[in-house]
Formats: sequence, C-alpha cells, structure tokens
Amino acid sequence: MIRNPIPWPNGAKCAVAITFDMDADSLIHIAKPEDSHDRLYPISMGRYGPMVALPRILDTYRRFELKQSFFIPGWCLETYPDVAEAILKDGHEIGHHGYLHEDPIKTRGQQRTWFERTLDVHQRICGQHPTGYRAPVYNITQEVVDLMIEHGMRYDSSMMGDDIPYQLQTKQGALYEMPVHWGTDDWPLFAHYDEIGYMMPVAGPSHGLSGFWEEFEAQYDAGGFFMLIIHPFLTGRLARWKQVEAWIAKTRETKDVWFATLDEIADHMDNLQKQGLWRPFVDRLPYYDGPILKDTPK
Ligand SMILES: [Zn+2]
Repeated sequence: MIRNPIPWPNGAKCAVAITFDMDADSLIHIAKPEDSHDRLYPISMGRYGPMVALPRILDTYRRFELKQSFFIPGWCLETYPDVAEAILKDGHEIGHHGYLHEDPIKTRGQQRTWFERTLDVHQRICGQHPTGYRAPVYNITQEVVDLMIEHGMRYDSSMMGDDIPYQLQTKQGALYEMPVHWGTDDWPLFAHYDEIGYMMPVAGPSHGLSGFWEEFEAQYDAGGFFMLIIHPFLTGRLARWKQVEAWIAKTRETKDVWFATLDEIADHMDNLQKQGLWRPFVDRLPYYDGPILKDTPK
C-alpha cells in the first residue's frame, strides 16, 4: 500500500511520466573543462542524444499521442536549439536542468548565477519560463530550493522522500516534489563512462529494463506514480528504445494509466487541493540547520 494515494483523472489507476534528461555532451565539458573540446569519443556519445535518439523518441510519442517532460541544461538548449524547438512544437515540457550540468553541491554559494543564467536561456530559446527543475546528479540543495521558490517555479524532481508526488514546505514557500529513485533511472544500468567516473557493467536491454517494469507493476497495483528518469544517449539507443516502445504499446492496451507531463501532474494536484479532494504529504525543509556533528568525537 501507499499512504494517501492521489485520485488520478478519469479514474486512472496510475500516472506515468517517462522523463528524459537530455544532457548531450554537457557531461564531458563540465567534468573536463581544460580539454573536453578535444575528447571526440565522449562528445559523440553525448551528441547521439539530440542528433539520433531525440527524433526517434519524438516519433514514438507522436504515434502514441503522448506528451512528456524533458530536462535539458541551458547550454544544451543553446547548442541544439532545433531539438528544443521540435520538443516544444510537439507539446512537450522542457524543465530546468542547470546550465552545463553543474553539480549544485560543487557550486554551493554560486548557484544563483548558474540558475538565473539558465532561466535566461529558457526565455531566449524556448520563449518561456520553466515551471519545473531537476538537479544535475540529483544534488539539490536548500540554495536551489530557495531560488526555485523565488522564481515562482512549481515543482522539483530530484528528491526521494516518498513513492508519489508530495509537497516541500520551506520558510519561503512551497513546491511540489515529483520523486525520483535510482530504481527507475537508467544511469546505473547503462552508463559506462570512465571519463566522468562511471564504470558500470552495461546491462542487456531486456535484463536492464525489466527492473523498471517491476517497479511499474508495484506502483500500478498501489494506485501510484511511475516515473522513468532516463537519458536519450542511453535508453534512446535502438535496442533499448524498441523495448520501451513495446512496453508503452502494451501498457496503453492493457492498463488504465494516465501518461502526463510533470507540469500536468502539478496542475492536477492543484485542482484536487482546491476542491478539497486530497492533500499531499508535506515534507518540511531544511531538514537540518547546519552540520550535524558540532564537535569532533574524541
Ligand atoms: Zn542530467
């Protein structure tokens, strides 16, 4: 069971969001800024996302009439503006995902510059202000939460505090949280990227993806929320995407699910609360005011 399940539109049993983080080659540039421009193999591995996988993914979504959420670093929007345009033209959502995939922990104290620079890029390239955010490497900090609230954003998708969407409450205001988890993220399954410190054993497509489908079945049975956090250059590759596509086809035929963008889910949560039909679990921030260990143990 899950506590306070969300009543989904039209009696659907589960909400499904297939979210993509389109990091492209930002990962190698932020990791190796001195010589990334000459590291052609990781650049090409990342560029596979916008150049090869994205058209494939958008084609699938068009055929199944799905609208989904994409998180894209600002630099990637500037570098691949045609891809951003194609995503928006099909009615999908683009969320904030840092400027060059900078880690908010490693850039603590400087996040305002990175965060607001990215908002400017969204305005310039996408013509709109993003409503949602996902922290690069999930490393959200209080600094970023405060910036999101200050800039009128409505949800984060970086934390792991519940099975279904909930609310983050701070002294400054509130945000929805669309919770992520490593069990529905393709990084541990498919990322083999020595240059940035990952040497994962690459799982076979059906073996790797089978864990996702087990996560879905549990969420479906509980009336919950199933979100994939995947990357075009990993799961958008031919054999893996073929399997995701087959899963979408089968699920649409045999299950009663609501495929939605995270922004649509936030709308739905707003409406339920306005009508007094449901209340989210509220997680209060900050968890701690400072370092937990005040002195060094003797
Ligand atoms: Zn990312």
